[in-house]
Amino acid sequence: MIDMPFNPVERAEETERLVMQGGQRKYYRFRAAPYYGGIATADAVGCCFLCAFCWNYFKIITPQKYGKFYTPREVSGRLLGIARKRRFRLCRITGCEPILGESSMVHIVKVITGVLEKERALRFVLETNGLFLGLQPDFISRLKVPKLSVRVAVKGWDEPSFRHITGADEKYFEYPLLGLKRMIEEGLDAWPAVMWDTFGESGIQKLKTRLVDMGIDSDIEIEGLEKYPYVLENIVSRKVEILDRPGRP
Ligand code: SF4
Repeated sequence: MIDMPFNPVERAEETERLVMQGGQRKYYRFRAAPYYGGIATADAVGCCFLCAFCWNYFKIITPQKYGKFYTPREVSGRLLGIARKRRFRLCRITGCEPILGESSMVHIVKVITGVLEKERALRFVLETNGLFLGLQPDFISRLKVPKLSVRVAVKGWDEPSFRHITGADEKYFEYPLLGLKRMIEEGLDAWPAVMWDTFGESGIQKLKTRLVDMGIDSDIEIEGLEKYPYVLENIVSRKVEILDRPGRP
């Protein structure tokens, strides 16, 4: 059991020790995924949050049990192979938080540049919870890579909702937004994404207000909950409210 709320920075340090080894990171799958109209996807393990609705919950709790270590070159090679075979224009890493500290940051930048330098027609979508981009602004300069887009999955519309959804101490709520703000200011292609089923229209409006108050001018991408049975069980046990989205089963 993980006591909540936890310090996500300490959790990141512990997780990075488990999922990084000599510049290699743990991955458990490489695949062609249907999202964004088709995207070459590498699934890694390990995160500093523990979101109630995480579709990779078990691999997030015990990343040491899953996957094996790959070098950045092996990961970019796998992604390139899938993208070329399927004629995709996009690549990503998912199932994890790619940035947990210095070692994982070095790894992900090598993966991204390894893909984009070999195949100029491709775009890389970096999916992140954004925590370390707010905590360590120097990381942002390393993401100034042509054809890189950064999607920041925002986990709450205020401090209490962030704590409730992620299990992390609420004082870390603003860091992903600060990282997003700085990326936009520095000209990176970056935007926020939220889960409609936990935010609802009211949460989205509150986040929009918060973004405007912080000087962040961006559209918000809306995603829907993957209603796997274990996801629904976790949500019930964590007492997170799931809203009915009009027009969606
Ligand atoms: S931030 Fe993403 S990977 Fe991490 S626990 Fe939340 S949903 Fe899962």
